[in-house]
Amino acid sequence: MILLFLGPPGSGKGTQSKLLESKLGVPHLSTGDMFRKALSEQTPVGLQAKGFMDRGEYVPDQVVIDLIKERVSQADSANGFILDGFPRTLNQAEALDRVLQGMGLKLDVIVNFQIPEDVLVARLSDRRTCTKCGRILGSKAAAAASVDCKVSGVCEFAQRSDDQPVVIRKRMSVYQEQTAPLLKFYQSRPGFITVDGDQDPGLVTQAILSRI
Ligand code: AMP
Repeated sequence: MILLFLGPPGSGKGTQSKLLESKLGVPHLSTGDMFRKALSEQTPVGLQAKGFMDRGEYVPDQVVIDLIKERVSQADSANGFILDGFPRTLNQAEALDRVLQGMGLKLDVIVNFQIPEDVLVARLSDRRTCTKCGRILGSKAAAAASVDCKVSGVCEFAQRSDDQPVVIRKRMSVYQEQTAPLLKFYQSRPGFITVDGDQDPGLVTQAILSRI
């Protein structure tokens, strides 16, 4: 089962990916998480991505395409995967088609997360992300409880540096310019669905599962 999550930053793609990866038994492939991990390990890819991420810009297509190509060929992707944050440009979407075609695979479900921009900005400013496992919570929830972390025992929440107001605005405009046009590319494909992302995460999960 291959799922592709499309939607602006803060629309709930990461949260839903984390909820669904155990339910469906397929890994969550987030290019953003891959870049953050690469950066924490100071790898060449991480260091190359850093400046783009800090400015809220996109990392060059070929870097992202090479990363995802390598990731989908790993053993744990054999039964499928959830793509979160990739593709983000038309070039990437066309490359994904070629990679899947080459592997004899196809996208089963394409989820378009719909949500008003003012809700997104409020969510991104308030969200805290575990620096180890990537789990996302609102600031109050993150401060209130110690949460089991699948990587390091207890989650350590912090605000992502690109979740600051100036960078959030830049990410939104880059999304509108470069990623929103992908809706046209995908909307007539079999398996394309639109979900209301401005509701309780459990309801969003149900809405997605009901279409699988
Ligand atoms: P995310 O965690 O998905 O919001 O991604 C964080 C940042 O990583 C983005 O703002 C980009 O700088 C970079 N990034 C992640 N995925 C991609 C992609 N598919 N194409 C280009 N840049 C990406």
